[in-house]
Amino acid sequence: MSKAIVSTLYDSDVFKMACRQFDKAADAINLPEAIRDRTKYPRRCLAVSLPVKRDDGSVTVFEGYRVQHNLSTGPAKGGIRFHQHVTLGEVGALAMWMSWKCSLVGLPYGGAKGGVIVDPSKLSETELEHLSRRYMQEMVNFIGPHTDVPAPDVGTNEKIMGWMMDTYSNHVGHISPAIVTGKPIAIGGSQGRREATGAGVAYLVKKYLTDMKIPLPKTTVAIQGFGNVGSETALALSNYGAKIIAISDYTGAFYNAQGIDIRRALKYLQYQKVLHDFDGAEPISNEQLLELKCTVLVPAALERVVTDKNAKKLKCRVLAEAANGPTTNAADKIIEARGDIEIIPDVLCNSGGVIVSYFEWLQNLSNFYWSRDEVMQKLFAILDKAKDSVEAQKKKFQFSRRLAALTLGIQRVADAKQSRGLFP
Ligand code: NAD
Repeated sequence: MSKAIVSTLYDSDVFKMACRQFDKAADAINLPEAIRDRTKYPRRCLAVSLPVKRDDGSVTVFEGYRVQHNLSTGPAKGGIRFHQHVTLGEVGALAMWMSWKCSLVGLPYGGAKGGVIVDPSKLSETELEHLSRRYMQEMVNFIGPHTDVPAPDVGTNEKIMGWMMDTYSNHVGHISPAIVTGKPIAIGGSQGRREATGAGVAYLVKKYLTDMKIPLPKTTVAIQGFGNVGSETALALSNYGAKIIAISDYTGAFYNAQGIDIRRALKYLQYQKVLHDFDGAEPISNEQLLELKCTVLVPAALERVVTDKNAKKLKCRVLAEAANGPTTNAADKIIEARGDIEIIPDVLCNSGGVIVSYFEWLQNLSNFYWSRDEVMQKLFAILDKAKDSVEAQKKKFQFSRRLAALTLGIQRVADAKQSRGLFP
């Protein structure tokens, strides 16, 4: 019998939400008590202080974290988030979801996540570089190409990954591209990585719409969040022929029943940095966006935006969870009871990012680089297989699609722990 001795370290709504999802899945597959707690809780974490010299000569100390949830199935893998609302609990929950995701799609990785409490839009480019390099410097003894491999997440990007790779390489004395993924192509980034998450979301949406016999030209899409994932999802779905009727970022949401010109929105973003005052659509609120009548709703920003307050009001046919943890457990229950919305759960829906990160890491370790076509072909093959396994699990046990995906992911991690013993 295992008895949980639970610390308050990760205590937060989002960590509790991830734990409840785990408990439900563990019950559903009768996961033995003896293996539960060590499969559920993060293996270890590091909290760091990051003093950064500001442009005005002053010094600000930022706080950063890295949580390694599971190292039993391979090196840990997971993004680094720069956001003012980062907490250790959020990073812990995101690390846990990374474990199930990598395991579900069959990657030889554990799960991890990192974060820094900072609003990156308030830093100059130089300050951002100093912060990114300092974060990596503090991580040097905690991570490594065969221990834990970070990647971009909310508020971080290719350029930041490049600085981090350079910092790590300078420390070890030779170039070490496999220390992070999502780097610029010039220093070992993979073809197709920048668009991988959104391309994967769009590919899965297309597959599910085909199953539902909904033609793409008749598909309308509303997307919350227009960063890396949201904008690439918009681009890929509009290339497939769907009409993107709403987009948003933290400065506001925009609606156009005729369809938004995504390339124009991207150009606007390039110059203005945010969607605020975008003139290719009419302004609405982010809450209104979530409740729009559309075929596909894509939350692609932060966690816990579909809640018990708005779940009853959703008017989509498909909820494609591009973001991690966008649907609270209470909302999940409401949507399941409604029975009229197909959820593509986060651990499946946004797995394209970590799949191509895996390809990038493989290319770095072998020093042999693939074409974009090869990357996309291999990505879609893995997504097809993962979707099929989720659908088979769903049918076999009469699970919801989320429960099917989580049970598959959790079972493999638990099996690895069982096989290896108590240490990993
Ligand atoms: P990003 O920083 O590039 O973009 C985030 C977007 O969300 C921005 O447009 C931002 O303005 C918007 N946003 C923030 N708060 C908002 C709010 N309250 N309302 C509306 N919009 C808001 O981040 P990203 O990499 O695109 O990540 C988005 C989501 O996808 C996150 O949940 C992340 O964990 C998940 N994800 C990312 C990747 C990846 O490869 N980057 C992979 C898998 C999952």
